[in-house]
Amino acid sequence: MNPEEKEKYEKAIEISKKIFSEVESKIKEGVKLLELAEFIENRIIELGAEIAFPVNLSINEIAAHYTPDKNDKTELKEGDLIKVDVGIHVDGYIADRARTFIVGEKSHELIRASEEALKEALKIIKPGNRVYQVAEVIEEVAKSYGFNPVRNLSGHGLGRYKIHTEPTILNGRNNIQQEFKEGQAIAMEVFMTNGLGWVKESLPILIYELENPNIPVRFRDSRLLLNHIVENYKTLPFAKRWISILSPTRLDFALSELVNLGILKEHPILKEKSNGWVAQTEETILL
Ligand code: MN
Ligand code: MN
Repeated sequence: MNPEEKEKYEKAIEISKKIFSEVESKIKEGVKLLELAEFIENRIIELGAEIAFPVNLSINEIAAHYTPDKNDKTELKEGDLIKVDVGIHVDGYIADRARTFIVGEKSHELIRASEEALKEALKIIKPGNRVYQVAEVIEEVAKSYGFNPVRNLSGHGLGRYKIHTEPTILNGRNNIQQEFKEGQAIAMEVFMTNGLGWVKESLPILIYELENPNIPVRFRDSRLLLNHIVENYKTLPFAKRWISILSPTRLDFALSELVNLGILKEHPILKEKSNGWVAQTEETILL
């Protein structure tokens, strides 16, 4: 990693921290998820960065990939466990950060457990250490609280305009011998649950990502949408909410055509299989 790259990562990380310092006071009963998402996404731009992926605001048993749609009426309720996951980039260099809050209360055991496990995990993520070692400390902290890590979710490397690169750092015990290397940018995230510890894909789908732009498209709306995506989001995930160049019905049709052709990838919401609640804590670090 050269000094300019490092500087851009550091700027993105700094802005993501600043945003979280402003988010805490917004987590209140009656606040709409849509307001919260728009506040955060606007702040990213105002602070001089760009949005790397739609703000994920996932409540209780939803672990990830919920972002409000245009007409979303969901409001925060007393006692909700809400994960706020924010992606920011500066010239393609990404900071990926998440915290969990509980509405109307100071903290929650799941939040404490996920924060403690992340702290321990970050001590292990150093050049020369290996991927499997991270899950061991996460499992240990989870067990001490009587919880489970979510075993099919993971931290990950970051690349320029790429949110998920090698290494994949699973939360659940594994045997991956891959070594961490100097110069890597790593987004480490811990998911802790009072359920069994697995997520499954569920509806709705609110986030999409360009996977293969070079497949021919027949319908005019789909071509229009594809050009719009390539120009505005490149290879970064985007929210259905952001797109206003087509009416809702035509947008749904064009999105499903692009998915069926293999051009777009869907990111369905992820729910804990046994309906356990999930807390997430994530930070981006440079090795
Ligand atoms: Mn994240
Ligand atoms: Mn991440």
